[in-house]
Formats: sequence, structure tokens, C-alpha cells
Amino acid sequence: MATKKKKKSTAAENEIITLTNVCKAYSTGAPALKDVNLRINRGEFVFIVGDSGSGKSTLIKLLLRELTITSGYINVMGYDLSKIRHRKIPKFRRNLGVVFQDFRLLKDRNVYENVAFAQRVIQKSNKEIKRNVPSILAVVGLAGKYKAKPRQLSGGEQQRVALARALVNQPTVLLADEPTGNLDPTNSWEIMKLLDQINQNGTTVIVVTHNREIVNAMKKRVVTLRKGVIISDEEEGEYIDED
Ligand code: ADP
Ligand code: MG
Repeated sequence: MATKKKKKSTAAENEIITLTNVCKAYSTGAPALKDVNLRINRGEFVFIVGDSGSGKSTLIKLLLRELTITSGYINVMGYDLSKIRHRKIPKFRRNLGVVFQDFRLLKDRNVYENVAFAQRVIQKSNKEIKRNVPSILAVVGLAGKYKAKPRQLSGGEQQRVALARALVNQPTVLLADEPTGNLDPTNSWEIMKLLDQINQNGTTVIVVTHNREIVNAMKKRVVTLRKGVIISDEEEGEYIDED
């Protein structure tokens, strides 16, 4: 046997997401995730792909601690999510940004308020909010749209507001569940380029998508789910066809 060179502590420090033998069963139907093993390091960009019903959203919800696992082990940013106390969950979520397919903006609030809201939730001062909100809106290319209501914006612009809201609290990990599912190809590329840029700045980014063209062009790590099982996990991977 070769001598053990690997320093265990280093691996653990870099690892920001760990799933070991994770199963998730809902009360009805076949298990949504079966024996999932996944390790993601700090600063990685990972695509999660797979057919509808393969368990992608279930995985995102487990990472958010919106759902709990049925068996196995899950750790996100040092939090053991099957053991975390309820009162600790808000603090845990503070370091997570989330973006969904359907934007989920507050319809009666303008762009500025939609983003400021995320800062108010974590009790940022008005002074900080006035500094942080314009700066993040500039990052997503929405300087000058502060006063628009969501209905006055295109889908691409609405998703950029959602992205700004997810980023304004400077999360360690950004989770996006089909963020381009309602967007045309041009806007889809804009959003993916922003996600890439956010990742270059150090945020760990996990993106569920069906966009084959973008996945194949971006040359990132690709994890493929099929019927609740990881069937492939490739660096610089490609979108795998069913059968
Ligand atoms: P995907 O996001 O890849 O389309 P999901 O994670 O949403 O897949 O769903 C995985 C499987 O779990 C599917 O068979 C789906 O029908 C089932 N499922 C999802 N949510 C629930 C739920 N709340 N109750 C029961 N079954 C569910
Ligand atoms: Mg889904």
C-alpha cells in the first residue's frame, strides 16, 4: 500500500456540499432520489440535468432544507441538514441564494423594493441597502429600471431582478432551478453568462437546466439524474440523451 498522502482536513475544508447515500421518498410513488452520492467543492459550477421527474427539483429542495432526506447524510456549508434545529434554518439560508423558473417576484413592488426586501429580511440598515441594491442591480444590467414593476419588464429582465435579489446578500452558494426555463435563447444566454460571472467571483453555483446547447457550450461539470439515480458525473461534461 502506498503511504497516505491525502490530508483529510483539506478535502473537508474545500467541500461545501456532501450527499452520502441519500434517499428521498415522498409519501406516494417511487422514491424521488435513490442512493445519491455527490460532493461539490467551494467555488465549483455544476449543471444538474435529467428528464422531467428525474429528481432535480427534489435535490434542490433538499439542499435548501425545504425538504428533509429519508435516509443517508447531507451536509451543506458545514450544516448537517438532517440534524439542524429549526431555529438555525434562517441563519443557514442566509448564505444561500435561490432562483426559480417562474421568477417569484413581488408583483406589487418595484425592482428596487424586490431586491431591497431580501436585505430587510436580514435586517440590513437603510444605509447599507441604499448602497448594496444599486450596486447589485448594476451587476445584472438593470441600472435605470429601479422603479419598474415586474409586469413592465420582459422575462429576461424579471429573471435578472430575481438574480439580483438572490445575490444581494452575497450568498456562498447559489442554487438555480431551471432559471432559463421561461426565457428565449438570447435571454437564456444572458442569464447563464451572469451565473458564470458570479461563479468566477467565487460563489459556488448549481444550475438545474434542460438547455442542451448551453450545457454543451459551457464545458462545466455535468451531473445527470435518471429516475432518481446519478447516472453520470463529468468534468467538462455534455448533455446526455435519454437512451
Ligand atoms: P424534476 O425536477 O427532475 O422534474 P422532481 O424532483 O420534481 O423532478 O420529481 C421527482 C419525482 O418525485 C417525480 O416522480 C415526482 O412526481 C415526484 N414528486 C415530486 N414532488 C412530489 C410530492 N410533493 N409528492 C409526491 N411526489 C412528488
Ligand atoms: Mg423540476
